[in-house]
Amino acid sequence: MKPQPRINSLTQPFWQGANEEKLLVQQCEEVSCQRHIFYPRASCPFCYSPHLRWVESIGEGFIISNTTIHRPHHDGFVEECPYVFAAIQLAEGPCIYGKVINAPIDTSLVNNPVAVKFEFNSSKQKIPVFVLLTK
Ligand SMILES: [Zn+2]
Repeated sequence: MKPQPRINSLTQPFWQGANEEKLLVQQCEEVSCQRHIFYPRASCPFCYSPHLRWVESIGEGFIISNTTIHRPHHDGFVEECPYVFAAIQLAEGPCIYGKVINAPIDTSLVNNPVAVKFEFNSSKQKIPVFVLLTK
């Protein structure tokens, strides 16, 4: 079995959104800031405002770094190796990490556009993964 997310009151909206196939990120409510934030936080890392709301990301972005996982650090991922794991800059700005499910292994994918999709990580929890879009 794969490791499961540790859901708490701060991260619960994100994981519930994933189960509804929505990629939720936070947005600072401060009028002079309004930056998008991921991972979930209690206050804005840019202006330190505690006033954040959850908004749905358009779920698209581009790869800023990627690698191929040949030997996982957890037995739960052995069967899907090799697979591509990437840092993705979302259109709204924040960086998110995830598996790219249709990507060629051992290939630089930097600057390639991707879109979010959701897969079951367990019988009760979906997680965001990404699909490579054609340029
Ligand atoms: Zn802010």
